[in-house]
This record gives sequence, C-alpha cells and structure tokens, in this order.
Amino acid sequence: MGRMNTEPTQITRRDALKTLGASAALLGLNLFASKLSAAPSSADVGKPGVDVYPFALPPLGYAFNALEPHIDARTMEIHYTKHHQAYIDNANKALASRRALQNMAPEYLLAKLDTVPEPLRTTLRNNVGGHANHAFFWEIIAPAKSPAPARSEEGELVVNDSGMGKDPKPLFDAIDETFGSLDAFKKQFGDAAAKVFGSGWTWLVASRATGKLAITTSGNQDSPLLTNDIPLLGLDVWEHAYYLKYQNRRADYIAAFWEIVNWRRCGMFYSRTPGAPFLGVSHFAQEEAKMTKMIKSRS
Ligand code: MN
Repeated sequence: MGRMNTEPTQITRRDALKTLGASAALLGLNLFASKLSAAPSSADVGKPGVDVYPFALPPLGYAFNALEPHIDARTMEIHYTKHHQAYIDNANKALASRRALQNMAPEYLLAKLDTVPEPLRTTLRNNVGGHANHAFFWEIIAPAKSPAPARSEEGELVVNDSGMGKDPKPLFDAIDETFGSLDAFKKQFGDAAAKVFGSGWTWLVASRATGKLAITTSGNQDSPLLTNDIPLLGLDVWEHAYYLKYQNRRADYIAAFWEIVNWRRCGMFYSRTPGAPFLGVSHFAQEEAKMTKMIKSRS
C-alpha cells in the first residue's frame, strides 16, 4: 500500500457547507477533539465550549453506516449509543457530588488523575478514560471515500467531511523516520493490536516531552494521557468494537481499520505536539473562531 494522496483539491461551497456547515454541533465536535491533544492548563479549564461535567456524547461526523463495510452500522450504533454512553453516564455519576472536579475537561482529569481523591481514581480512570478514548476514536476514523478536502485561504486549515484537519505529510515523515515506512508502521501497530490480551487499545502516541512517536498499548480504558503521551491514532480492540461483524477475527478488523483512518485528523493532532509549542484548548478555540468566520465568509 502506498501513501494516500495528500494533495488537497477543491470542493464546492455547497459541499463545504453541507459537511461543515451549518452545524454548531460539528463545531462542538471539533472543539472536543482538539482538547484530546492537550491537557489544558488550569487557566483553560471551565472556559465556555470546553467539554466538562455533565459529559455528553459528542456528535459523530458521519452516519452509523458510513464506515461500511469496514465497520458495520449496527456495531457503530451500539458502540456509540450504548458503550460510549455508559462511560459518560458512569463518569457523570461519579462526579455528581464533586463540584471541585466538575469544571475539568476529561483530558485534564486524566492527566492529573494522581491529584484526584483516591477513592475516585479507578472510576474516573475507567469512565472518563472511556469517554475520552471513544470521543478520540470517532475523530480519527472517517468514511473510506471521503470527499477531497479543501485548504483555507490561510493555507493552514484543511476541511473534509469530518471537520478540521491538517496535511498529514509531517506525520508521515515522522512515521518514516521512526518506523522506516508507513507499511512498516502499520505492520508493527497491527502486531501490537493483535497481541493486546483481553480488552484494550493500541495507540500511536507522541511524547508530550519530546514529540517522539511510539506505538503503545493499554488495558481496559487506560488513556495515553495517563502517562503523559499525546494520542495521534488509536484502535479500540475491545470485542464490542468488532465482534458483531468479525467475531473472533481481530486481525481482519485491524486490516479494515486502515481503510478508514482519518489521517488528516491524526496530522492535526501531530501538529500540536512538541517540538512545536504545545497548544491547548484556548488556542484551538481561536482556530475554531477563525474557521467559523471562514465558512461564513464563503456563504
Ligand atoms: Mn469501545
């Protein structure tokens, strides 16, 4: 397999509006996703638009059946409306009487978990982790034949049918440098995903400290944020993510995953990691405002 074509091409204004448009919900989705790349500083926490208690399902950028045949509609529906919702419900329940923690974004709670009262930690690790991991996962997958994206006038923001992204070339270059090639990376990531025993995740992460890439795995709903890594790509290998279609054939599910990776989103997350200055929610809110302005100016 070669690299995807990273050259942006034009889409019509109508398409841009249809896919981005209109939708405050989509902007909400973008805002949420961006924050997963960063634990916000305490100054960021609680600002308008930040995903805080009570947590809620972020809107999907696509229909339940949009990822077929790679992920079937029924699996998507159950995964999103039942499994993800359950993590949210449990996280909200755990935080219901914890006012001091209610203005904290999920990634902040995870990054600072050791400062949370001990009796709460496991519940938050599992359920805030489950919420953050799934919200991230919905972001880094997209329909296999997405309309080609368009570049903003500033040449920076790239738009496709699941929202904001970035040219993934810098990420692909880093993957080449770290793993030898994209195919070698996929092989290594797939092997790691195949070996996760029981329920867990496989990740491509960038070290918050150095920006260096690594493949990691985690059990249950443990987030890379717990160990100060920034997730760039993640694969849910819980059976609930694939069992209806693939049964025990996890390898087939892993192979199908590559058909629906939203590399532009991964590229966006990578663009926020060191050695570039670390960017948090506030910065992203500014980008969102810029984006909204751009969309309006085209309509
Ligand atoms: Mn899951």
